[in-house]
Formats: sequence, structure tokens, C-alpha cells
Amino acid sequence: MAKERARNVESGAEAKPRSAGARRPAHATSGRAPRSRSSSGSKARPLVGGVGISSPERIVDAETGTTKQALAEFYLEIADWLLPHLQGRPLSIVRAPDGVGGETFFQRHMGRLKMPHVRQLDPALDPKHARLLQIDEVTGLLEAVQMGTIELHTWNARSDRVERPDRIIFDLDPDPALPWARMVEATCMTLDLLKDFGLQAQLKTSGGRGMHVVVPLTRRQDWECASGFARRITERLAGEAPERISAKMGPQNRVGKIFVDYLRNQKGASTVAAYSVRARPGLPVSVPIVREELAELDAANRWNVTNLMQRLREQPHDPWQLDGVRQCITWAMRDRLRRGAS
Ligand code: ATP
Ligand code: MN
Repeated sequence: MAKERARNVESGAEAKPRSAGARRPAHATSGRAPRSRSSSGSKARPLVGGVGISSPERIVDAETGTTKQALAEFYLEIADWLLPHLQGRPLSIVRAPDGVGGETFFQRHMGRLKMPHVRQLDPALDPKHARLLQIDEVTGLLEAVQMGTIELHTWNARSDRVERPDRIIFDLDPDPALPWARMVEATCMTLDLLKDFGLQAQLKTSGGRGMHVVVPLTRRQDWECASGFARRITERLAGEAPERISAKMGPQNRVGKIFVDYLRNQKGASTVAAYSVRARPGLPVSVPIVREELAELDAANRWNVTNLMQRLREQPHDPWQLDGVRQCITWAMRDRLRRGAS
């Protein structure tokens, strides 16, 4: 099944929905004020975290009935958890001005959006393009939500040293027909192989169908090294369990399997941030977990804007307790992978 992609928005071009969109939920239509009125300032804009929210009653997700104001309030509530995952990293946003089911826009640049507290990074970081974005504080986050943002994606590098990735991400994508147990199994296989190479990893639900395995790194290696290592680890996994894991992109290559997507480890690629909401029905959230939770987990969209805060209240520690972990890709690891020895 082909995944829907957000439309890429070129910098400078105003992102406009192509049309009202046939798949737009019927009752979302009435909630959307005409552009001229919503931008005129004549209508009341409730403040959320100090940011005025236009069209606050507009339905963002028909399944949960979440309004734009409620989404902003959720982001304000989750901000202390989310911001550490956004701070200091180039960012992409996925906006859905017409809500979930409407057209989405994948955007790495400011364009004509008004988000004064979203940083625009030094143009030297990405010389041929417009300035990259970064959110370091809650006001910028809420300004992004005010501009219709639902998802926040980040790079695998921090903007003070963009040539040195500080993590690798394996994105496990299942054939949608597979039972969840196979995702758990593939996640464990990935973790075990990494452990065998002496690497600790963090885990999060994608909020969609799969899991994300995140390997934190000290910033010794460049992109070529990190992405090459990710590819070889994936090929090793697929070699060990070819009936269960695929290292090749495309739905035809993962029939009955899980595709381990290692391609997000190139410069400029991004992945949804931990604690970001997803622009999907029910507004699921990408949530960090510990390995021990995998056995009880029943789906990657287990947590959403409605039930996540309860989990965080019950378990107030971030499961990613790897701040003290200092690990990098060594010559010995690369050599072992290259030789193909076990
Ligand atoms: P799932 O578990 O359902 O696979 P996911 O987060 O792993 O969820 P997607 O939401 O399909 O998968 O992620 C798409 C990836 O492609 C993300 O890394 C995102 O940053 C990137 N992306 C999405 N839309 C675009 C686009 N229009 N142009 C470039 N990159 C995009
Ligand atoms: Mn995925």
C-alpha cells in the first residue's frame, strides 16, 4: 500500500491547499473561517502560551473531534517533553491546514509563514537553499501550530555541527498485513544485533505503523560513515532473516516482511520527533518506550493526544536514559560488517 506523502513546499512559495479536498471531513468545512476573516484580527484569538490561535474551533481531526485550539493546548502541555527533542536541530514541519485527511505540506523553510520565534539558521548550513528552521522554545512551537503544523521532524544532527550526525535511526516499516507481533520481533532483532556490536539504542513508536530504533552517537563520524553503517546493519539483518526482514525499499520488496528503512541517515533527511503528534486519524503521537514495554505494546499508534498525558503522569521519567552513553561507530565495527563475518 502506497503511503501518502506530504507535498514538498518550496521556500518562498506560499503554501496553499490545492482545493478544499474531497477527503476533508464534512464538518471540518464549517469550522474554517474564510482566510480574510481569520487574518483580519477581528475575530477573537484565544491565547495559548501567549500565541493567538486563529480559527480556534476548527476541527483538526474528525475522529477525536480535536480543535485547533485543543491541539495547541496539547502542544503547550507536552512542550517540556518535546522541546528537548527539537532544540538545536534543523527542523521540518508537516502542516495540515485543512486538518487530518486534507492536503499536507512538508516544509523545511519559512516561506511566507509567520513564526517569529522559530529560528532561521545560518544560510551556510545549507548553502543552495533557503535558511533551515529550528524550534528552541515553546513560543516558536505554538506559532508553528498556529500556522497549521501538526508534525515536527528533525535531523539526525545538531545545527552547531551539521556535518557530524549524533544518531542513526532505523525506521521499521511493516507490510500492513503483518500482525503486530512481527514488528516486535523485528525490533528485538535490530536491538540485539546493535547490542552485539556494542551499541545501545533507544526506541519509540512512530505513531503510525512501525517503530523507530535510535542509536545515539558521539559526533565523531560523518554522514557517509553513519549512513553506510546503517545500510550494512540493515543488510546484515535482512541476510539473517530474509523471510522476515527486507533491506529494499518499495512495497513489492516487503510483502510479508518488515522493511528496515536506513535511508533516513543521510544529511538533510528527517524523522518525526519524539512526542510529536502525527497528522493521522486519532492524532497519534510518537512516544519513547523502553524495550521491556515492547511485549505489552499492541500498536505503534497506541498513544495519542487523548491518552498520552495519562501515561506521562504515571511514568514521569523519560525512557530514553542514555544521556550518559558515549558511543561511536568504530573501525572494528565497520570492518566486521564489511568482512561479513558474524
Ligand atoms: P510509519 O510508522 O507509519 O512508517 P513514519 O514516521 O516512520 O511512520 P512517514 O510519516 O511516512 O513514516 O515518514 C515519512 C518520512 O519522510 C519522514 O522521515 C519525513 O521526514 C519524510 N517526509 C515526509 N514527507 C516528505 C516530503 N514531502 N518530502 C520529503 N520528505 C518527506
Ligand atoms: Mn516508518
